[in-house]
Amino acid sequence: MANAFYDFSGELQHLQQQNLYRRRRIVDGPQTVLLNLDGRQVVNFCSNDYLGLANHPEVAAAFKAGVDSYGVGSGSAHLVCGHTSAHHALEAELAAFTGRERALLFSTGYMANLGVISALLGRNDSVLEDRLNHASLLDGGLLSRARFQRYKHADAEDLQTRLAAASGKALLVSDGVFSMDGDLAPLPTMAKLAQRYQAGLLIDDAHGLGVLGATGGGIVEHFGLSQEDVPILMGTLGKAFGTFGAFVAGSDDLIEMLIQKARSYVFTTALPAAVAEATRASLRLLQTESWRRQQLNCLIFGFRQGGQQLGLQLMDSFTAIQPILIGDSGLAMAASQRLLEQGFWVSAIRPPTVPAGSARLRITFSANHTQQQVDDLLDALSKVLL
Ligand SMILES: *Cc1c(COP(=O)(O)O)cnc(C)c1O
Repeated sequence: MANAFYDFSGELQHLQQQNLYRRRRIVDGPQTVLLNLDGRQVVNFCSNDYLGLANHPEVAAAFKAGVDSYGVGSGSAHLVCGHTSAHHALEAELAAFTGRERALLFSTGYMANLGVISALLGRNDSVLEDRLNHASLLDGGLLSRARFQRYKHADAEDLQTRLAAASGKALLVSDGVFSMDGDLAPLPTMAKLAQRYQAGLLIDDAHGLGVLGATGGGIVEHFGLSQEDVPILMGTLGKAFGTFGAFVAGSDDLIEMLIQKARSYVFTTALPAAVAEATRASLRLLQTESWRRQQLNCLIFGFRQGGQQLGLQLMDSFTAIQPILIGDSGLAMAASQRLLEQGFWVSAIRPPTVPAGSARLRITFSANHTQQQVDDLLDALSKVLL
């Protein structure tokens, strides 16, 4: 007999009618600027592999050497027997890179955010989140059971009003570079507010690390801030680092607290040591070869200049995330489809990833793009959007 629990057809149909149905496309081959999609080569403008390290020969070689030294699986959680010398060395190198006392590896960024917020807050505390924060930060706030508030996007005034009225311990939580808008959190002001109100400050710099700052130190380096200003810094390794995983960096005490209390750290298998070895190689490249950041900035600048001349509706971003606001989800999907027909893969971002009515094309750049590819994209955009 049919079991009504498993009747999802109404909900799925509803998503399709609203143009919110999601589908995966199958890529054949490595993550590079040119992707094999359905037997055809398309130019990839939707990856977060901003520096083009995901398929770099040195990173791949370090991964293979890591497998030779450590095998594939890590066997258990870090607190049991899964914490290898490769993980430990990477943590030390990430701490040095971010100018913090310690760093702690997490298996994904999503898990890092869930773990940190719920480890540091409880029922009688307050969590204040930017309205446009990444889902993992919002979910971490909800999981913590603290009083949950969202302040207006990048609005320090609204934040201060709420902070002044907050009860219990308060934690300010924000993306550094906003993942779907590409703009920055007002970090210097947030650091001052956190200090004035004795609140914690957690910054998720998934899209800034490796990309912003002279040495790739991210938003914190961009603003010239220290561990004292931004005591809890979270970074992901699956974006500019080109590998996989995440970390939280901060004081010795903070890291010890997370080792004791972050459930998504304690109760999960350590990422493979070979991934840590690959990440050590990408960290070396990211720190020593600044030409990738320069190339990326040249491409972004060229795109914005060209886009402005064409009259495209660019957003307020100077980072590698360059969205074009469309509004309607169906129109955004159609634009993405037409670009794909012309050989450009640009993803349409729809609710709930972005607020209702703000669907957009999210164009991302890689240091491995050429100016010609960017010019060709501008051409295609003008045909599709204007
Ligand atoms: C991608 C992303 C995450 C999640 O990181 P994963 O390692 O992919 O789980 C967290 N925060 C932000 C802002 C992100 O863009």
